[in-house]
Amino acid sequence: SIVFLNGEYLPQEQAKISPMDRGFLFGDGIYEVIPTYQGKTVGFIAHIERMQQGLSSIGIKLDYSRDDWQQIIDNLVSKNESGNRGIYLHVSRGTDSKRAHAYPTDVTPTVFAFSFEIPAAPTPDKSKVKAFNVTSSEDLRWKRCNIKSTSLLGNVMHFQQSQDLGMQETILFNQQQQLTEASSCNVFVVKNEVIATPALDNQLLPGVTRKLLLAILREHSNYKIEERVISMEEVRNADELWLTSSSKEVAPIITLDEKPVGDGSVGDVWQAAQALFSQYKYQY
Ligand code: PLP
Repeated sequence: SIVFLNGEYLPQEQAKISPMDRGFLFGDGIYEVIPTYQGKTVGFIAHIERMQQGLSSIGIKLDYSRDDWQQIIDNLVSKNESGNRGIYLHVSRGTDSKRAHAYPTDVTPTVFAFSFEIPAAPTPDKSKVKAFNVTSSEDLRWKRCNIKSTSLLGNVMHFQQSQDLGMQETILFNQQQQLTEASSCNVFVVKNEVIATPALDNQLLPGVTRKLLLAILREHSNYKIEERVISMEEVRNADELWLTSSSKEVAPIITLDEKPVGDGSVGDVWQAAQALFSQYKYQY
């Protein structure tokens, strides 16, 4: 495929970076993954704003405008087989021959982007949706989970916990047994038709799908919506649990730690939420 590296488009095999890149040596960088369906992005502005905030919070200066990013995305779609493509954007602090911890002052950030084929967007159909079986764990990641850092070892290890059990995700609780998020998704809890998700803080990523879904539900449904602390007990007694992420949109969880969630089938509130998301996602 054709990828973008530091201003150039080239075949992936020809894209080379130095082993002294701080992205490689320290995981010192920020990334984004943005879905496109037939060339149309979902949540473009929110993804770019989150990346710019992440870069500024770790002191990487990069003068790419929103239009520059849009152009890179459009080019990655048009230069590759079109259809549905995920766009991966990655900015590392750049290459520094010293491998010293301090932020170097005189390096240029490395900017890399590639695209990959993704399945068609999920549809609000109980019989077709992929339902998730998940496990749980104490959240053992760092305390800056609001930064979309390329240092993903904590997330990778938590994700692997589920794989080793034949499951598909791990949902995480802090030391106070409060829900944070999952290893690669945000989490929503439904009880008596009230939809709740953890409030944003340093313990979780401000997911773009989370943001869009909350906005869509508030504007286009009558469900009560809450952003607040959610206890483990509430999670274990929920009628429905959902995962949200750019690739999954809203995904129903049907078992948690081998116990059924609610009655163990995909819920009606999920169906309504995914239907609204499908209908309005390009407008936010
Ligand atoms: N939480 C984590 C840890 C993630 O890696 C992701 C990314 O997919 C999400 C949540 C969901 O974020 P988004 O909806 O922006 O894809």
